[in-house]
Amino acid sequence: MASTSDTDPNLLEKITNLAKRRGFIFQSAEIYGGFRSTYDYGPLGVNMLRNVKQAWWRSMVQMRTDIVGIDAAILGPPAVWAASGHLETFTDPLVDCRKCKERWREDKINGVCPNCGSTEFTEPRAFNLMFKTQAGPVEGEGATAYLRPETAQGMFTNFANVLSTVRKKPPFGIAQIGKSFRNEITPQNFVFRTREFEQMEMEYFVPPSEAPEWYKYWIKARYDWYVDLGIPTELLRLHEHAKEDLSHYSKGTTDVEFAYPWGWDELEGIANRGDYDLTQHSNASGVKLEYFDQAANERYTPYVIEPAAGATRAMMAFLLAAYHEDEVEGELRTVLRLDWRLAPYQVAVLPLSKKPELEATSRDVLARLQPYFTCDYDVTQSIGRRYRRQDEVGTPYCITIDFDTLEDQSVTVRERDSTAQTRVRIDDLLAELRTRTGQV
Ligand code: ATP
Repeated sequence: MASTSDTDPNLLEKITNLAKRRGFIFQSAEIYGGFRSTYDYGPLGVNMLRNVKQAWWRSMVQMRTDIVGIDAAILGPPAVWAASGHLETFTDPLVDCRKCKERWREDKINGVCPNCGSTEFTEPRAFNLMFKTQAGPVEGEGATAYLRPETAQGMFTNFANVLSTVRKKPPFGIAQIGKSFRNEITPQNFVFRTREFEQMEMEYFVPPSEAPEWYKYWIKARYDWYVDLGIPTELLRLHEHAKEDLSHYSKGTTDVEFAYPWGWDELEGIANRGDYDLTQHSNASGVKLEYFDQAANERYTPYVIEPAAGATRAMMAFLLAAYHEDEVEGELRTVLRLDWRLAPYQVAVLPLSKKPELEATSRDVLARLQPYFTCDYDVTQSIGRRYRRQDEVGTPYCITIDFDTLEDQSVTVRERDSTAQTRVRIDDLLAELRTRTGQV
């Protein structure tokens, strides 16, 4: 399959609408007409985005002994960005359409203005993507600062701090999740490319001779992560950059690509960056960023393998891959087949009616599940309508409390994808859900 729109040409529009209507993603400052390319995450979106980041952190940090996390500052001094090369080379080629005056990133438009179809453009100019600001109270007098355009530099500038505090030795990694900012020339495709976004990056420091094997290892590990969280393999592929397209320091870059509605495009990049970053910061700061291998009595600058993913972009891919329309009892339904670990609500507790005796039992069921699962509690509308509402936002399990519950102390567990319903005793419910979600 070349894109998710092969099966549904309106998929992007449907996801954008659903995201807004059900509280995943809103246009930022909407009451003032919106602010282009910035988005706010609503009650369901914030749950899902946190779940994406948590799933990443779990696999990259919690489940390993060789990777530690940091949370570095977003504001940085020019020295960092001079050493990293961003001040000079973090640019995109900007062109103006001579006819309609729209501005475009030259490498993304195939020579034709997407707005008016003209093929006449100004000469490309290098446009630096970093947001520049001033730190200090007096306008015009403060120190220049930049909002980070990637989280990675925080790992390089803290390399010696981490090494001396956590007693790791190569191969080891430093991971970070956080906001990054790029003054993109043409932000587009909903949250695929925005000026403010969240990244999940890890710098894995290795002995230079081991770099090729770790590069391969991380390409596979990162591809598998998306598959494990439910993206079908036919919507994923690996794309290795040709040697002539690599940045001058890169010894290899492979993208994990996703079949977006507009075709294959980047989801994450995995790069073998050699010793470029640590060497640059060593030279510029005068602080040696090396590792001393006592056993071999040898000092060296580790190579870096970097898997760099976008949290907001990954969330969009998970939504696109999960969106399905099917038929249940002759009725069309929309269902997000999200992995339970990513779903905004993992369980919905639904008393059949608003009768006080049902509410009391329902509140008890809720209290038993809430410490372990993110739960919704919904008493409005018919039960059928409530199931559909939960299907549409991807809730894997609905628990219905009815009048029989008061007699047999059991509830109905309704599964999202199969719509199968089973009766489970309240006392067994937590264990049953933990088994079904593979936690025990
Ligand atoms: P592009 O060439 O598409 O601008 P890039 O190759 O410069 O992207 P990286 O610097 O490798 O991107 O960033 C790593 C990851 O961060 C990307 O794979 C993507 O998931 C995410 N990302 C980068 N820029 C943006 C953005 N403007 N909006 C949302 N996510 C982004």
